[in-house]
Amino acid sequence: MVVVGAGECGTRAAVELREAGWTGSITLVGAEHSPPYERPPLSKYVLTGSEGNVEPPALYEDGALRDAGIEYVAGATVTGVDRDAHEAVLADGRRIPYERLLLATGASARRLPVAGIEAGGVCYLRSRADAIVLRDRLRPGARIGVIGAGFIGLELAAAAAARGCDVTVIEAAPRPMSRAVPTDIATAVADRHRQAGVDLRCGLAVERLTRRDGALLLELGAPLEVPGPAVHRLPRNRDSSLPHFRLRSSGGTSIAAEPHIETAPRPSEALPLAFDTVVAGVGAVPETTLAEKAGLAIDNGIRVDDRLTTSDPDIFAAGDCCSFPHPLYGGRRIRLEAWRNAQDQGRAVARSMLGDEQPFAVVPWFWSDQFDLTLQIAGLPDAAAQEVVRDRRDGVAIQFGLGDDGRLLSAAAVGAGNAVAKDIRLAEMLIARRAVPDPATLADPAVPLKTLLRQAPS
Ligand SMILES: Cc1cc2nc3c(=O)[nH]c(=O)nc-3n(C[C@H](O)[C@H](O)[C@H](O)COP(=O)(O)OP(=O)(O)OC[C@H]3O[C@@H](n4cnc5c(N)ncnc54)[C@H](O)[C@@H]3O)c2cc1C
Repeated sequence: MVVVGAGECGTRAAVELREAGWTGSITLVGAEHSPPYERPPLSKYVLTGSEGNVEPPALYEDGALRDAGIEYVAGATVTGVDRDAHEAVLADGRRIPYERLLLATGASARRLPVAGIEAGGVCYLRSRADAIVLRDRLRPGARIGVIGAGFIGLELAAAAAARGCDVTVIEAAPRPMSRAVPTDIATAVADRHRQAGVDLRCGLAVERLTRRDGALLLELGAPLEVPGPAVHRLPRNRDSSLPHFRLRSSGGTSIAAEPHIETAPRPSEALPLAFDTVVAGVGAVPETTLAEKAGLAIDNGIRVDDRLTTSDPDIFAAGDCCSFPHPLYGGRRIRLEAWRNAQDQGRAVARSMLGDEQPFAVVPWFWSDQFDLTLQIAGLPDAAAQEVVRDRRDGVAIQFGLGDDGRLLSAAAVGAGNAVAKDIRLAEMLIARRAVPDPATLADPAVPLKTLLRQAPS
């Protein structure tokens, strides 16, 4: 068995192969030099922890892989797969024979597509090495520009603010985390950032980047077209040098842009904005180069079936790099960039590689920590046709998404510390059981979610 990629997914898969009874050889090849480590802490306490505490936790204790009889080849990149010979080819020409091959190649930070980017100096955050570079730059008073208000951008902004930096976040969409988080929840998170002094500006695209006197200058332009229902932008105001726009519905009624979110530079400020460090958190791109070269089917990532098998029956793919059909969402093909999915798929794919026929059907689950808040999402909010809100008595609101048929498809909430964990866990179980809860009961905080679980099919 050969596993390419020693991240969360590949490493878990290698260990699971052994635990599930595979007695033959297991080789884990990873491009990074360090022992396999946890990636989520990179944007959290690796950036904020006390001096010297830059190491993300290792996935397994020292020596555990060796003890499990797994050969870990670190700092080596697989550059080709010879499917006829059943061999993985390394950059240095070494060839590793396989019976079954797993591609767990993850994703890379999307590069910022703006003019002037070639001048250099823009940071990204995907690996331990990136975090070490960044951490050094987050000094009190440093002017940090974060491009992108997705999870990575906002976690990074929170970490930078906690370290006393002067933080500005620039987001092209009209609100933060627009891809996966319901509006009210995103607004609560945005409010927390503003409270902490983060200058969060939405609806602005970065057009050009230049370097002057050691600073990185960002020129902001008209916002990118953001797909969304019945919302479009007015053209830029030609009389002003500042980008100027407003949101309105297609019926012509003006609607307020996101409450509490700055949508344009304040007139007193001169453009462009100057920063000591600019970090781009503009999404991740599935790492498919190897699969493409090997002629495997690609479809928003390496295309796999519900057993995580690629278009070659002896090659599997799992984690951030693959798209798979999800039975809970009508077989819709999705790709998840989430820690627990990488773990779950790592375990599941190992069993598939050993012949298990079980389809992968785990409910998607994601969390993000920003300041003292934790946000959790179970299921896919964008699959929902209607929304039900449960306003808990402690001020936490849970947003549930229901399908056309009333089936529970998602639940999202944000709260301090562990405040939302239990309810989201219960919601996750309801989603897995395809529960069709009564919306009024779902909205009623007096009825514990546990009660709904008892009524749901098992
Ligand atoms: C900063 C950060 C914070 C995050 N925070 C959260 C969070 O709070 N919550 C959450 O749910 N998720 C979070 N995630 C996402 C989560 O970490 C990922 O979903 C998870 O790491 C994916 O695991 P993976 O093994 O599929 O891919 P990766 O972790 O990307 O691992 C893939 C590995 O494969 C290696 N590789 C690629 N190509 C080759 C090749 N050809 N040869 C050899 N090796 C190769 C790469 O170097 C990499 O080490 C975060 C991610 C980042 C970057």
